[in-house]
Amino acid sequence: MTITFNRPVVIPITELEQSAFCQTDGNLRTKSLEEEFAAGVRWQKVPIRYLKLSPQEIDEGIAAARQALGKQVVVLGHHYQRPDVIKYADFRGDSYKLSQMASRERDSKFIVFCGVHFMAETADILTASDQTVILPNMAAGCSMSDMAQTEDVEDAWEQLSSVLGGEDEIVPVTYMNSTAEIKALCGRNGGIVCTSSNGTQLMEWAFRRGKRILFVPDQHLGRNTALKLGVPLDEMAVWSPFKQLGGHSPDRLRRAKIILWEGHCSVHTRFSVKQIEDARQKYPDVNILVHPECTMEVVQEADYVGSTEYIARMVREAPAGSKWAIGTEINLVKRLAEENADKSVFCLDPIVCPCATMYRVHPAYLLWVLEGIMAGLVINRITVGQKVAEQARIALRRMLEVAG
Ligand code: SF4
Repeated sequence: MTITFNRPVVIPITELEQSAFCQTDGNLRTKSLEEEFAAGVRWQKVPIRYLKLSPQEIDEGIAAARQALGKQVVVLGHHYQRPDVIKYADFRGDSYKLSQMASRERDSKFIVFCGVHFMAETADILTASDQTVILPNMAAGCSMSDMAQTEDVEDAWEQLSSVLGGEDEIVPVTYMNSTAEIKALCGRNGGIVCTSSNGTQLMEWAFRRGKRILFVPDQHLGRNTALKLGVPLDEMAVWSPFKQLGGHSPDRLRRAKIILWEGHCSVHTRFSVKQIEDARQKYPDVNILVHPECTMEVVQEADYVGSTEYIARMVREAPAGSKWAIGTEINLVKRLAEENADKSVFCLDPIVCPCATMYRVHPAYLLWVLEGIMAGLVINRITVGQKVAEQARIALRRMLEVAG
């Protein structure tokens, strides 16, 4: 029996949830699901047994399930997952690395994706038809991805096409953090998918194919990447999905080299120039290393900028004794600090908040779906419709071809 969902259980992040698990002492210890629910959050419902289990009981249950299921299950874990989940990942990575793994993974029948909804959708698109992709908690979405609703992007594309004309006028580029339908729009209109690992390379590719780019959904990644390629700010326009023509005149859109969707990451926009100044004042020899989803001001002030994989590599390869203030998700920063004890690694923001949607993958959900497989029950299967998958695959394969 399969419990299939085509769509995530959309539970928007409230202000309460955004700050529910923020800490000043950096202690992100997992509690029972019932205790975490007591913070006032609403996640996907699970059978009552899983609410009550202690972290140790969950741990033992997952270990036993993994042992029993063997190679028929592979667990993929995004770097931003909490320690009590990532420790079960057979492969860890950012969305780019995990999408490459999903495209190569042919041995396992079940791919349990500990990440967020758009990542599991991508895995379903890239894996074989006899493989099943499972997302442990269907409420694990991405607030940035939710800022670009498929209908709004399709509407924007129609408006832009009618104002600007044919394919060589505008090329759609979507960040991996978007729905399968938006990836499909890119696939059928000569566009491409990018990630923060390959954004520069793929934006160059898109500029070779057309006069301008529609970049969805992260305005900061789009702006930071375009600036790197020499596009001036006055040739960028931010598209508001709530206004006709995104809030611009046709003439303004014709003068733009890049049209940036008005979306952002609630985790990476927490970092500020003030935090960088404070870190430098406290540790004059500190290296500031941030993710390109941070604002332009933060990126310009930082010493190093790059994707999650780049951040991990920089810290790993840094000399012993060096200091690193990092502007990215706290679970990754804490892990890097633990794995690089000969260096001083800390979060740029003294109040540490996990990505609230990634955090929804509590280990009890992982246990629930694994025990489901053992009982012949496929819980939370992610499936992308055939036509959408075919078109999205075009844009994803372009990315894998261009960026390797
Ligand atoms: S860190 Fe930001 S972009 Fe990544 S999943 Fe969380 S909200 Fe989305």
